[in-house]
This record gives sequence, C-alpha cells and structure tokens, in this order.
Amino acid sequence: MVTALSVTEEIILVGDYMYDAKSLKAEEFIADEEVRATLKYADENKDNLQVLDEIIAKAKLGKGLTHREASVLLACDNEEKMQEVYDLAKQIKEEYYGNRIVLFAPLYLSNYCVNGCLYCPYHMKNKHISRKKLTQEEIRREVIALQDMGHKRLAIELGEDPVNNPIEYVLDSIKTIYDIKHKNGAIRRVNVNIAATTVENYRKLKEAGIGTYILFQETYNKESYETLHPTGPKHDYAYHTEAMDRAMEGGIDDVGLGVLFGLESYRYEFAALLMHAEHLEAAHGVGPHTISVPRVKKADDIDPTAFDNSLSDEMFEKIIALIRVAVPYTGMIISTREGKAVREKALALGISQISGASRTSVGGYVEEEPEDDNSAQFDVSDRRTLDEVLNWLITLGYVPSFCTACYREGRTGDRFMTLCKNKQILNCCHPNALLTLKEYLEDYASEDTKAKGLAMINRELERIPNEKVRKIAMEHLEDISNGKRDFRF
Ligand code: SAM
Repeated sequence: MVTALSVTEEIILVGDYMYDAKSLKAEEFIADEEVRATLKYADENKDNLQVLDEIIAKAKLGKGLTHREASVLLACDNEEKMQEVYDLAKQIKEEYYGNRIVLFAPLYLSNYCVNGCLYCPYHMKNKHISRKKLTQEEIRREVIALQDMGHKRLAIELGEDPVNNPIEYVLDSIKTIYDIKHKNGAIRRVNVNIAATTVENYRKLKEAGIGTYILFQETYNKESYETLHPTGPKHDYAYHTEAMDRAMEGGIDDVGLGVLFGLESYRYEFAALLMHAEHLEAAHGVGPHTISVPRVKKADDIDPTAFDNSLSDEMFEKIIALIRVAVPYTGMIISTREGKAVREKALALGISQISGASRTSVGGYVEEEPEDDNSAQFDVSDRRTLDEVLNWLITLGYVPSFCTACYREGRTGDRFMTLCKNKQILNCCHPNALLTLKEYLEDYASEDTKAKGLAMINRELERIPNEKVRKIAMEHLEDISNGKRDFRF
C-alpha cells in the first residue's frame, strides 16, 4: 500500500509495507500487521552487518529513518554498531538543537475523570483519591507561584470529564494563565494535554493561543489499549489515535506524541510511534513537534509492577537515541517521572525539553503536598528546585532556555521545521535561549546560578555565527540588565 521507500529499500523492503501512511483511519496508518512485520524483519536482520551498515549510513545523512530501519537498530545488540548510533544521536542533537534545553512545568488543573485507565490513579473507580478542580483564582495563585520560580512555559493537564472539565473551563483557564502579569513574570506559552476531543474544540484551543497539543497514545496496540481503558470515552481506540488528525484539521500544527512505556512491549510501541510520525508527515505535511517518553510510575492505587513490560534504563536510553536519529527534527521531552541520572544521560542522547520542579498534584505549587494528599498523578523522581535544575544544566554545559519565540512569531508546524532543517538554530534559538536565561538570572536565580549563568552567556555569545545577530543579542542583554524584558529573534 505504501510507497515511501528508503535508500536501503532493496534490503529493507521484504514485501510491501502493510500500512497506509496517508489514510486517516487509525487501523490503516497504525496497521497491526505492519508493526508485526516490522518486528519480524528486525529480528531477522539485527545481526546482518550489511543491513546495519546501510541503515547507519542512511541515518548519518541526518534525514531520519523509517520505522522498519529504526526497529532493526532497536533489536540490534552489536555493541560496536550501537556505539556508532549513540555517537550519531549525540551529533544530530548537537547539530539540530545545539546545547539548549527548553524548560517547562506541568500545571494540573483538575483530576476529575470519567475514564477507567488501569495505570492512572485518576480512574473513576478510585473513590479515596481527593478530587480537586482549581477555581480561576486558585489557578492565578498556582501560576504566580510558577512565575516566581522563573517558568515561562506550562503544559496544562486535566482528567477527562465533560461535566467537571468542559472545554469552556479549559479555555477560561488558558485565558487566566496568559493574563497574569506578576512582577517580571509571564507565561508565554501554554501547551495543552487534554483528552482526545472534537475538531471544533481543537479549533477553540487554537484560537485561545495554545502552543502544542499533547496527547499520549498510552499504547498503540489496539487489543491492549482496549484492555487498559475498559470504560469511559477513552476506550475508543480509533477516536484516541486519530486525535492528532482532528487537531490538525482544527488548525493546530504543533502536536506532541508519546506512549506510556511499560504498558506494552516497547518494540511494538517504538515501531508504531514512528509510524504515527510518518503518518502525520504523509497526511498533513508536518511531523510531530515533539515526542514525549513517559514511563509508567507508582501512583496512589497504581503499582507499576502490575504491568509486565517495564524496560531497563539502558533500553530506555537506547529508545531515546533511536528516536533522535529516526526523527531528527522532532523535539523530545522527558519529565520528572525520571530521576537525575537517567535525565542526564537522556539529555546527551537527544532530549531537548525537560520539566523542572514539577508538582503532579492539583494545587501543588501553592501548597507543598501534605502527607495525606493523594491527588498526585504519579510519583515524581526528580524533586529538585528549578534553580537547582538550572545550576545542574549549566554545569553540564547546557544552556537552559525559557524561549517561546517561535510560537509567538508564528513559526509553528512546517515553518519551525524549516528553521530546524536549515540549521538556523544557532542564529535564532541559541540567542533567544541566552536572552531568556539572562532574564531568569536577573529575576530568579541564586547567587551561584547567576554567576555560572552569566559566565555561560559570555562564552556562548561567541558561538553565534552571524555577527549582526550577535551584536543585537548583546544589546538586548544589556537592555535586560537595565530592567527591560521579552526580546526575541
Ligand atoms: N486526561 C488526558 C488524556 O486522557 O489523555 C491527559 C492528561 S494525563 C494528566 C497525562 C498523562 O499522564 C497520561 O496521558 C498518561 O500517559 C500519564 N500517566 C497516567 N498515569 C500515569 C502513571 N501512573 N505513571 C506515569 N504516567 C502516567
């Protein structure tokens, strides 16, 4: 059915691809038989040095890999070949994204939910979890607390509940968040992680000025999906899987994919996730803006060991490196579900965005979660403050960025991809990162972070290739020292 062939086609193509990347039907663009054929092909070729070399040579062109090619590498346990892949992942990351790391925080608005997801403590049958929904005044207080840490970019999170969390509530909340101007603080980009919804609602979200629409697939395996979501609107596999198509139809061109690793076999999820990315590119002309890599965690009445597909840290890191190589233009997000050590490795292999100082309970930024509060969605592994996270990033040589310029300049969807593909990051995103870091250092940093950050800015200015851009960046940095804010390229 599909004719998107690769340079290694004569080797890779064992029979036709058994899916239709352009179809708008979930079971055709994530065809189970294609995923299974991919896994079989990966097993058959994982030790074939000629195939491995062909795939790695293609990956080195920096234009990505198909799900079949990337799956062969995932199955491969040849250490020498894999080292080449890890080195390449680092190189691609450096080439396309530079050393910036974008920071964000999740903001949980409501944990009311009518679904029955077996891995999530918000499930409807959980009668002892405290249910909370923030009022607009409570949202104001949460956002001020987040602004006072230095955050500029949020991802709002809600359970699915048409009565308690209707779209109007989401839209009012977005407006409240954007309207809050407290000291020098501002939330400049609100990403949204809400349940699959209608084209009309996606249009409303677009009009409300959202950044990325994020929706995790949880699992691409239809049978497992239906078992894991036994009740509620989320049970509908096709409606959930086709959500990004509706979002795009509603005008949202920055969408964020992800699977919840641990629920199903990671090999199945990995192949299907890349097929989903291929589908968005084939059907809408623009791939996913981001891919998130959450792993299932312990939570109120959830024991992650109940799912027998947990993956080791090493395999998790391999997946991150392979996503980086397979879709070089897609940002990658890791949350505080992971601890410092895993996050550190993941940063080098391809992650471009991380959350910092996250609270996963409703209202958790204003009030430190009391002992008896069980409204959190999952246990957080990285509990450092935002300043500690920034200090750590700077020490590791990464430039922490609070930049939101692309979305505010209308560089979304394929316009952002063009910037990335033309490797203009160093003349655009890099200086923007330095400007937003400088704002953070002036307004929120500890003494130590400020000293390290200012030294970093001086060093990093030298790396801006375009002299004119460098000069303007220096002028803006001076303006920030003099109290002005919000400059961008
Ligand atoms: N309610 C929305 C939906 O249905 O897609 C999304 C919001 S939910 C707050 C965000 C994500 O948290 C879910 O999509 C799921 O992947 C993840 N999540 C749920 N339970 C989790 C757990 N126990 N550990 C880690 N992540 C979890």
